[in-house]
Amino acid sequence: MWNDSGVRAIAIHDTAGAAGAALLDLPDPKPGAGEVRVRLAASALNHLDLWAARGIPGVTPTFPFVLGADGAGTIDAVGEGVAPERVGEEVVINPVLSCGACPRCAAGLRPLCRSFGMLGEHRNGTHADAVLVPDVGAVPRPTLLSPFEAAAGGVVYATAYRMLFTKGRAEAGDVCLIHGIGGGLATAALQMAHARGLTCIVTSSDDQKLARARTMGAAHAFNYRTDDVVADVRKAVGGVDIVIDPIGAAVWEASLRVLNADGRLVNCGAGGGRVAEVPVAHLFWRQLEILGSTMATDAEFAAALRMVVRENLRPVIDRTVPLEEVPDALQSLERGEQFGKVVVSR
Ligand SMILES: [Zn+2]
Repeated sequence: MWNDSGVRAIAIHDTAGAAGAALLDLPDPKPGAGEVRVRLAASALNHLDLWAARGIPGVTPTFPFVLGADGAGTIDAVGEGVAPERVGEEVVINPVLSCGACPRCAAGLRPLCRSFGMLGEHRNGTHADAVLVPDVGAVPRPTLLSPFEAAAGGVVYATAYRMLFTKGRAEAGDVCLIHGIGGGLATAALQMAHARGLTCIVTSSDDQKLARARTMGAAHAFNYRTDDVVADVRKAVGGVDIVIDPIGAAVWEASLRVLNADGRLVNCGAGGGRVAEVPVAHLFWRQLEILGSTMATDAEFAAALRMVVRENLRPVIDRTVPLEEVPDALQSLERGEQFGKVVVSR
């Protein structure tokens, strides 16, 4: 329950891992200049929660530190310099943090700011009754999406949008290989690529997740534990134009071997290996591109929400849990048991 004197929050006291996360009562945060306070209706688990709980090199959190990057709710207070009319606005949170003053920030390219950071990594996050975010990070919520859907979809759709359409230059008719189907980013990418008219191939180690992806439009689905993905992809489609890779090193060699000339490997995570082997002869001979991507520009965040509305997409929600069950749900996320996003209700 909301009360004016304090907020409930899922916080860590050290960086020994998500097992140390616990429900606490913390003081009600007061918005500073340029900030709004969002009373959260929902948040959603993100792999970032696990990384933050383990400690990220170069990041020194102040404890207790509140986890959570994804969220949606209502602005209930604003700081100096923010339009007072924003109070009462229903918003989805863009968790990107940046200096707010450099030319890249001024151009809306905030993930490219030298001071780029994330809510729930550099500042207290969304698994709480209320969170402070920069004015620009509180984005009007499309009425088509419920707060639960917005919490589940905001970050993954924006991230997938940048990977597919900006970095990957995806166009109708392209063939797209999406690794790790079942994760929130991968399922969002499958929906967006399918809606745009791409032929989608997915991989997972879980046959049930592969079957589910087929019902969502995947043309081919391969189990990387039991199938020969390179041979099977070549046999099914010849080659692919874009790889969406939230996994990392473990899938790079196979991915680069199945890319067509001018193909793009777009990576957004290293949980599946931090140092990769690159078949260099494939790289130059087929003029491949290896592209890193994280989050989205402000324009891409807005464009992703417009596409969600236009194409009538809904984020895949694995299940909804109350705030006090977040510690257990993080353990389950670590084991990769979910299909889509785990939403946290208030
Ligand atoms: Zn900046």
